[in-house]
Formats: sequence, C-alpha cells, structure tokens
Amino acid sequence: MKKYDLGSLVDIIILLMVLSKFKESIIDLLFPPRCVGCGSGGSFLCPSCIRLLPRLYPPYCERCSIPVIRGTLCPTCLRSPPIIDGIRSLFWYQRAIRDAILWFKYKNLKALASPLAELMAEYLRSNPLPIDILVAVPLHPKRIRQRGYNQSYLLARELSRLSGLVLMEGSLIRLRDTTSQTILGAQERRSNVRGAFECKDQRLAGKRIGLIDDVCTTGSTLDACAAVLKERGGSSVWGLTLAREN
Ligand SMILES: [Zn+2]
Ligand SMILES: [Zn+2]
Repeated sequence: MKKYDLGSLVDIIILLMVLSKFKESIIDLLFPPRCVGCGSGGSFLCPSCIRLLPRLYPPYCERCSIPVIRGTLCPTCLRSPPIIDGIRSLFWYQRAIRDAILWFKYKNLKALASPLAELMAEYLRSNPLPIDILVAVPLHPKRIRQRGYNQSYLLARELSRLSGLVLMEGSLIRLRDTTSQTILGAQERRSNVRGAFECKDQRLAGKRIGLIDDVCTTGSTLDACAAVLKERGGSSVWGLTLAREN
C-alpha cells in the first residue's frame, strides 16, 4: 500500500480548507449572480427590484393579515377564529418576489435563501413578533426526495443565523402530502390539511414559536401546524411568510 507523507496530507487538507472558504466566490465566478426580477448582474435580487416589491401594509386583519377596511379582524377570522395567534407576510405574491420564490423553490436556486431571509430579518427588526424559537413548515418526505431540499427550512435556517433565534429542527413532521391543493377552496383546504402534521417534540413546551414558510395562501397549512405545535405545549404560534397570495 502506498504511503503518504504527513506533510503533503496536511498541505492537501489546508488546500481543501482554503478552497471551501472560497467556494462561494468560485461559484460566483463561474455562475455570476443575476437578478431574478430584472436580469441585471451582481446579485440574485437587486436593490431596485427589492425596493419595488409589493409590501403588505396595514390596515390588515390582526390574525391572518388579509386587508380589512375597518375593525381589527376580517369576517373569516371573526366567524371562526384560527388556532394560530397571527400570520404576517412581507409581500403580496407578485412581481419579483414571486419570481424569486419560484426560482428558489423549483429551480434549485438555493442561494436565494440568504437575501430572502435577510428581508425577513429586516421585517422582524422593525415589526417584532413575540417569538423565542423558529420552526419551519415541513415538506412531505416524497417532496424532499423530488426537490432535494425544503425551501422553508433553508429560509428558517438563514433567519436563525441572522436573528439569533434558535431553529428547532425535526419538530414538525408532515404525514400527508397536501402541497397540491391549489385548486381547492378555503374550506376544502382546511379539511385537506387536517391531520397532515404531527409533532412529538417535548422541547416546545412553553415556547413562543415562529413558524416559517415561503408563501401563505389561505393560512390553513400554518393553522394546521399551529394546532399540533400547541397540542405539544407551544404557548403561542405566529406564522411568518415571505409572501401572501391574494
Ligand atoms: Zn432586479
Ligand atoms: Zn383574518
């Protein structure tokens, strides 16, 4: 068997460490980032596209953040209050944020996790939520196998790094694949996600949880997650998503 001298092994290890340190710069050099909104070079989401993102402003429903004309709750939340304490979304699911989420989710552009989570961290700095820990909305294992990653987990991991909030991994499990519910109405979505999640994590007892997802459609997925997190002892659950469909 060929013998390696220790000196050259150390050299190789140092070289690998240096290379991994510069991995991102090398990838940037080979595949220079382009803005998913306007195509300009330099970043995956350029400052002018970020400025033009369709932000959600009050007045909106205190619980689900749907715009309201008057009062603090929308008719749906008044009729049947959700289990989740509240949902906040940064933007309407339109324009560059929609493009960014589609690239992030379906075209393997995982590098978007960082600028997208930065937007969430910025939002939390100016609109603090009562949360101690983060939990990502899970994907069904079948979807993870197809996509290779859970975009909500990548967002939550980056947000945890930026905000210092601890990310609880593996707390929530998706038992049923309910991601293809785009054709369903609000009521059908609600019954479709009932029983789709499970949580056995004892560490959540007494915790104020921030539930992270990319897009909120009707809030039924977030609410179903909140139900099992509270059953496991979570004291409150707030949903935070990048975008909201309208
Ligand atoms: Zn742009
Ligand atoms: Zn509402």
